[in-house]
Amino acid sequence: MDKIALEQIKQKAINEHIPIIMDDTLEVVAKILTNMQPKRILEIGTAVGYSAMCFSAYLEKDGVIDTIERDEIKVKEAKENIKKVGVEEKINIYIGDAVEILPTLNNKYDVIFIDAAKGKYPFFLEQAIRLINPNGVILADNILYKGYVMSDYNKHKQRTAVRNLREYIQEATNNPNLETEILEVGDGLAISKVKMCNQ
Ligand code: SAH
Ligand code: MG
Repeated sequence: MDKIALEQIKQKAINEHIPIIMDDTLEVVAKILTNMQPKRILEIGTAVGYSAMCFSAYLEKDGVIDTIERDEIKVKEAKENIKKVGVEEKINIYIGDAVEILPTLNNKYDVIFIDAAKGKYPFFLEQAIRLINPNGVILADNILYKGYVMSDYNKHKQRTAVRNLREYIQEATNNPNLETEILEVGDGLAISKVKMCNQ
């Protein structure tokens, strides 16, 4: 893996205000991945490939990441970036809306990282529960959304997103098959450990 190229891609993404994973969030995810050595990771929301490339360093040998992105311009850039960094054999991009793609997937994953449209988080969780391996981990980035989710802030134009993020937390917390904690790192990270097989 070309770490210098990865750092350049990160800086470019920051300059272009692409919401890539924050350093402290990545640190937490990296610890989880180090402990798990996952064979298969699913990511919802590729953007320019930064988080997927970071995660790829923690895969078990021959492990793969499937990642979904609907913005074709971002997909094109992600593909170029993944080539530059030299991890193209580890990352497979699905092009399209995750709302349509997820129901067509049947492979199981050890880790699922949700990082796309906030209004769809409850649906993404439902699909993640279907696709996660027993003892897998479901992660959701931006779960506290700049603090809006935990405040009584309701009049914002983003209130639909806030409502759906709250619904995600409710479901992840109340589901008896999940053991969920919400961390205040970065923009908020939900970590749900799967306690048993849901099939
Ligand atoms: N995971 C990336 C950042 C993703 S930003 C990283 O940390 O490096 C969120 C991305 O999700 C955007 O590129 C956006 O186009 C994509 N996205 C949002 N909703 C989506 C959907 N329903 N299906 C597929 N991609 C989606
Ligand atoms: Mg994010």
